[in-house]
This record gives sequence, C-alpha cells and structure tokens, in this order.
Amino acid sequence: MDTNEEVYKSVPQSRGKIAHANIDNKTSTSANEIQSLPISSDELGVMGKIDVYKKDEKLLVERKYQLKRIYQGQLYQIWAQYFCMIEMGYEIENLAFYEISTNKMIPINLPSDNEKRELLSFIKKFHDYNPEDDFQVNTNKCSHCIYCNLCDKTTVENVYS
Ligand code: SF4
Repeated sequence: MDTNEEVYKSVPQSRGKIAHANIDNKTSTSANEIQSLPISSDELGVMGKIDVYKKDEKLLVERKYQLKRIYQGQLYQIWAQYFCMIEMGYEIENLAFYEISTNKMIPINLPSDNEKRELLSFIKKFHDYNPEDDFQVNTNKCSHCIYCNLCDKTTVENVYS
C-alpha cells in the first residue's frame, strides 16, 4: 500500500484511474445518480464498487476507457454488480457499458438464469483456488496483463512496460 503506484501501474491502469477519477471523487451533482456505491452479495460471496446507477432509468453503468470488444470477464463484472445491487434492494432494468474514449453507451442484456449459473461457477473457482495446485500460465495473457509486474507466476514483461 505504501508503494509508489508509478512503480507497478501499467499505462491502461493509470489511464483507467484517471478516467474513473470523476466518479471516485463523486463530482456529479445529479440527484438522479448514485456513484461509487460499495456493494456486496452474500449469495455470490463478492464485494466491490459500482461506477454509476441512474435511478430514473433503473440503469447500471460500468465505465471503460476503451472497449474494442467486450470480454467475458467484463460481462462477469457487470453481472456481479447487478446481482449485488438486486440483493441490496435496488431496482435495475438496464445495464450498459460506457466507452469514455468514444462517448458511447453500449447496452447489455440482463443476465439470464443460465448466465447467473455460469457466473456462480466462475466465482466458485476463485473460492476453491488452492495456491499449491498446478497453475497453467498462458504467457500470451501475461504479456497483456496489467498485474504482470506484481505476479509471481511469470517472468515475462507485459506490453505496457
Ligand atoms: S501475469 Fe499473473 S495474473 Fe496476469 S495473466 Fe499472467 S499469471 Fe495471470
């Protein structure tokens, strides 16, 4: 925690942090919006923080600097936020990513029952993770991973270094 962030943060992380700064500093004055709300779910066993919830549209928005394509992990992120907020008693009828670099809103379907099961099974893998187990390293992923400089599973450099 005391480390200088510049030592280990990659360019996409720093850019993401700047992009989220407006939200983290809660600079919006709209009474219709809840920003940076801490969330959790007993059912999923996860906790986190949302970007923006727009009450009148019952819309949950996750901001990304750039979204050339939407990865499954990004869907898991917004689905988990959705289930946390539902469990906390919020009404949500719409989900969307907001691409900051293009000022574009990208609507996402609400997760189906099957997709919820898929998310739960994915989270279970984290809960069941044993560091002693064999770990399959995919160096192609590592070279594009923002945690590369902190990870003890690989010695490759990421492309952002
Ligand atoms: S650097 Fe570590 S955390 Fe990142 S993809 Fe590779 S093994 Fe996973």
